[in-house]
Amino acid sequence: MINLELPQKLQNTRQMTHQLAESVFRPISRKYDRIEHCDTPEELHPVGQMAAGMRGGDGKKSGGDEVKNGANLQGIVSVEEMCWGDVGLMLSIPGQGLGNAAVQAVGTPEQKEKFGSLYCAMAITEPEAGSDSAAVQTTARLDGDEWVLNGEKIYCTAGQRCDAVVIWATLDKSQGKAAIKSFIVPRDNPGMKLVRVEDKMGLRVSDTAAFSLIECRIPYDHILGSPEIAQTEEERKKAFGGVMQTFDNTRPQVAAMALGVARAALEMTREILEKEGVAADFSKSLYNSSALEAEIYRMEADLDAARLMTWKAAWMADNGQANSKEASMCKAKAGRTGNAITLKCVELCGEAGYSEEQLLEKLARDSKIIDIFEGTQQIQQLIVARQQLGLSSSELK
Ligand SMILES: Cc1cc2nc3c(=O)[nH]c(=O)nc-3n(C[C@H](O)[C@H](O)[C@H](O)COP(=O)(O)OP(=O)(O)OC[C@H]3O[C@@H](n4cnc5c(N)ncnc54)[C@H](O)[C@@H]3O)c2cc1C
Repeated sequence: MINLELPQKLQNTRQMTHQLAESVFRPISRKYDRIEHCDTPEELHPVGQMAAGMRGGDGKKSGGDEVKNGANLQGIVSVEEMCWGDVGLMLSIPGQGLGNAAVQAVGTPEQKEKFGSLYCAMAITEPEAGSDSAAVQTTARLDGDEWVLNGEKIYCTAGQRCDAVVIWATLDKSQGKAAIKSFIVPRDNPGMKLVRVEDKMGLRVSDTAAFSLIECRIPYDHILGSPEIAQTEEERKKAFGGVMQTFDNTRPQVAAMALGVARAALEMTREILEKEGVAADFSKSLYNSSALEAEIYRMEADLDAARLMTWKAAWMADNGQANSKEASMCKAKAGRTGNAITLKCVELCGEAGYSEEQLLEKLARDSKIIDIFEGTQQIQQLIVARQQLGLSSSELK
């Protein structure tokens, strides 16, 4: 039997997170959109501790046959609510970085203990390696009992404010993606220099940093996972696949960001239109509905479809089922639906949509990045196609 309702426990999570979004995030949303470069907003410090428990998405996959609404589903329910409040503020909550998910996904029990409480950003992207994360040029070599890293990292969310950065680097370029490993570099390491913090179209409260790593030395135990480079074809696939598994957990969370932002825009649009006498409340037959009402109905249906796909991908992760295809499908659907809805809302509300008096224009700006980071729309479609056709990344590029 399929039950598509959230269980009581998750409804409670949703309600609590919604209160947080409404009382803490919304009132300061515009303020921090205007102050682009700042320290962690002071209002977020108390939220950091609280959110760790509520968000729950620690990246762990729970195995077994039992159907559990575990950490992943709880995580996406919370993320949607928080992003209904403000996506940039959610990404600025101390302790909730993408690097934290990586530590949980590939770290040893000792590493989880040691680094689990740090605020960890994740640096994969480089000037020559964006969508193609296997093209990473940053190198790591072993020197005595230390790793030495050299390279350049760009577009690292929370890079300025975090405690440590999970850096992707290759042990041997000639061995391709099997040689790519991730390393924990404390933010105050003198070999890792903050080069700049980006000015951005949206998500302005969230800091996006660029680093240069020059002879950056870290202790031996700061490598996440095994230092061995897989040799057989099967082991190679498994090695990089293990790293990529982080994304099977985080992509549904990014999809949930898109849902929260789009839902906020849709609710605001409904309110604005209702004041103008347009109530999309299903009280009229389809033939008698106005064009504006029909647009609202269409957007709601699309948003619901994206949400159900996102819940499914998270539910699969919670139940130990391989969900790469579903994770990419929901990220693609929610990312483009979020972009389409937020822009359509600006359009339908006219001057109220475009003016800074309302948050609609900000939501449209914030929404765009969700369809880009953590794998663009096109890359998600490529992954889905590969899975559907049973082709490898070298067979379908
Ligand atoms: C605000 C922000 C925050 C970010 N945070 C992080 C972070 O925390 N950590 C991190 O590592 N990175 C982060 N990124 C980087 C982000 O993940 C990359 O921008 C993204 O992966 C795309 O890479 P790229 O910008 O190099 O684009 P490119 O890879 O150069 O792609 C450009 C265009 O070509 C398309 N394209 C590329 N390859 C293909 C293909 N094979 N088939 C079809 N189309 C293709 C892409 O979809 C895109 O439209 C962030 C970026 C931004 C803007």
